[in-house]
Order: sequence, then structure tokens, then C-alpha cells
Amino acid sequence: MTVPRLYVDQPLGPDMAVLLATAQAHYVATVMRRRAGDSIALFNGRDGCWTALIERVDKRATLLRCQRQQSAQETPPDLWLLAAPLRKGRFEWVAEKACELGVSVLKPVTTRRTVPERLRLDRLRTIIVEAAEQCGRTSLTSVDEPLPLASLLGSWPADRHLLFCDEAGGPPLARALADRPVGEPWAILIGPEGGFDPEEREQLLKLPQAVPVSLGPRILRADTAAVAAISCWQALCGTPR
Ligand code: SAH
Repeated sequence: MTVPRLYVDQPLGPDMAVLLATAQAHYVATVMRRRAGDSIALFNGRDGCWTALIERVDKRATLLRCQRQQSAQETPPDLWLLAAPLRKGRFEWVAEKACELGVSVLKPVTTRRTVPERLRLDRLRTIIVEAAEQCGRTSLTSVDEPLPLASLLGSWPADRHLLFCDEAGGPPLARALADRPVGEPWAILIGPEGGFDPEEREQLLKLPQAVPVSLGPRILRADTAAVAAISCWQALCGTPR
């Protein structure tokens, strides 16, 4: 029997009581059919993952008591993903994969060729929580409000490298990241389906922190490019969990 694993926005610690509100209480009682005396796993993005005993179960409110910490809070690498919003569910897919692959912050970035799309940040956050629950993560990817590329570049942190994934070509990613120390702050930039325009490219190449790279001779869809770039970065520069 799989143990349900739930995200709660409440403090977790020895003997602490946790009250699950409607939707999660319903999930535990009706969907997972758990009863008083059963255990489930809880995490809150700060205090690691805890085994919690169900004291009282009810569809409207389920009371749990933390017992022991199963795993310590993970400290993911300091990696941002800057990605242009995409149509339909594609950006939600990117958010889900970003969480699974250990991105610390997702920053939607609007560029000249970004197709206007109303981003539902609450929906992205729900998807990220579900990905973390399913994949055993104890830390969540946070999601920022969308910002124009120019303003992000205008106040770019001096110590943060920017992996600029350029469909127009550049040094191969594996070469550009070889021998880079682990543990430094990074960001990965992925453009929209229409790619970067020449002025944006020029501005990016002038940024001293920018590391332009190619992901190979094939042009990838933006969502594929995001996952490919994060995976390669994690393999070469990510700290072990
Ligand atoms: N429409 C553009 C492609 C845009 S692909 C064209 O036909 O040229 C969307 C984004 O994915 C790009 O802006 C880039 O950030 C990334 N990307 C896709 N393929 C890539 C590659 N081979 N190398 C580097 N980045 C790539």
C-alpha cells in the first residue's frame, strides 16, 4: 500500500498537530481510504518530510500528528529557469518538469516574440506541488510574476551566470559548462517558440554574466529545450541532493 505524501503549508516538527482542510481531508478519507491509526507523509518545503499518524479522519477535517522526520530538507542547487510563456498546457508542463528536475525559481519572461498568454500562476503552483508530492521532493520550485526580458537583464545579479540557450548557435553546452565549479548561482534562459530577435540576442551577448550555448544542431521546441538544458546543467553543475 503506497503511503500518501502531501504538501501542507503548516509547520512540521516532533508531536506537532496538523489539520488538513477540505480538499486534502477528502483525498485522505475518500480517495486514499485512510483511517485513524494509518500513517501518511507530510512536507512543507521547509522542514523535510515527516511521518504523521492520523488521529481523526473526516471528509471535512482530518487531524494528524507528526511522529518522526523521514528525510531532511533538501537543499537544491541555486538554479533559476527563465522561460517565455507558451501556449496552452505547454508552460504548465515546463513548470512540472522544472520542479522534478530541481529548479529553485521559475521566472516567466516575456520577450518580443512571446505570444501573449494569460499565465495562471496559481495553477502553475498547484502543478508544482503535485509534482513535488509525487516525486519525493521536499522543496518546491517558486514561481515569480512574469517580467520583460529587458528589465530582468537590466538588474541582473552580478554573481549569477546566465546560460543563454541560443537557437542561432553557440559553443556546445557540454563544452561551455565543463570544469565549472558546482554550487554557484545560475539561471537558464529559454526563448519563445518564435526564438529571440536580433536586438535581444545582441543585448544578451553584451551581458558579462551570459554564457551562450547551443543545445545541438537540431532546433527544439521551447518546452523540450528547457528540459534538455536543465538536465544537462544538473548533470554537469548541479550539487548532489
Ligand atoms: N523559431 C525558432 C526556434 C525557437 S525554439 C527558429 O526556428 O529558429 C525556442 C527556444 O528554445 C529558443 O529560443 C532557445 O532558447 C531554445 N532552443 C531550441 N533549440 C535550441 C538549440 N538547438 N540550441 C539552443 N537553444 C535552443
